[in-house]
This record gives sequence, C-alpha cells and structure tokens, in this order.
Amino acid sequence: MATLFGKIVTREIPADIVYEDEHCLAFRDINPQAPTHVLLIPKQEIPQLADAAPADQLLLGHLLLAAGKVARQLGVADAFRLVVNNGAAAGQTVFHLHLHLLAGRPLHWPPG
Ligand code: AMP
Repeated sequence: MATLFGKIVTREIPADIVYEDEHCLAFRDINPQAPTHVLLIPKQEIPQLADAAPADQLLLGHLLLAAGKVARQLGVADAFRLVVNNGAAAGQTVFHLHLHLLAGRPLHWPPG
C-alpha cells in the first residue's frame, strides 16, 4: 500500500513539483514552515531513515546532492536547512523517507 508520497510519485495525488530525476522527486510542502519548504523524496519507498540499508548508500548520497541542486535552483543555496524526522516521536507523520529543505527566514539553533 503506497503512502501519500508514493501516490505523489505516481501522480495519483497532485503536488507542486519543483524537481524530478530518475531517483527522486521534490515538491513544495502543503503546510510550509518557511518561505521555501520543499520535501525531497526517493522514488523508491524507504519508510524511515533508520530502515535504510547499505544497498541504499548511492540513493542516499543522490538525495543529498539533489537537495543542493534544488537549493541552487530555488535561489536559496547560501542558507538552508535539511531536516529528517525519523519516527513518530520525532515528528514523522508520513512514512516514506523525506528531507525537509527549509529556507528564506532565519533558522535558529538549537531547533525545537
Ligand atoms: P513529517 O512530519 O516529517 O513526516 O513531514 C511530512 C510533511 O508532509 C509535513 O510537513 C506535511 O505538511 C507534508 N505534507 C502532507 N501532505 C502533503 C501533501 N499532499 N503535499 C505536500 N506536502 C504534504
């Protein structure tokens, strides 16, 4: 059973897609927490980062490189934050691995 994000990959659910390649997809978060808030997902479903295996090494590296590419494309490469929520207690609500790319406002540290 595909998650919500799996259905965005197959276009069963619409999304504001900003980047796509063979392995991943990036689209704007429906409830943005910053002026730029994009979700970057692998097309292959991995429920959460803790489930990733050594065989996913290239894919995970690809996601990080794609995040940099999306940041440059959106004009925020000088200052952005990537967040991965892993597990419900850490705020994960969709169990298809995703990177949050946040930018466009001051990003304080430590995060909440
Ligand atoms: P997380 O809480 O880390 O699992 O992040 C899930 C994110 O998905 C949240 O920031 C939601 O606002 C976002 N979201 C949920 N449904 C959609 C959707 N249909 N299109 C875009 N973003 C969504």
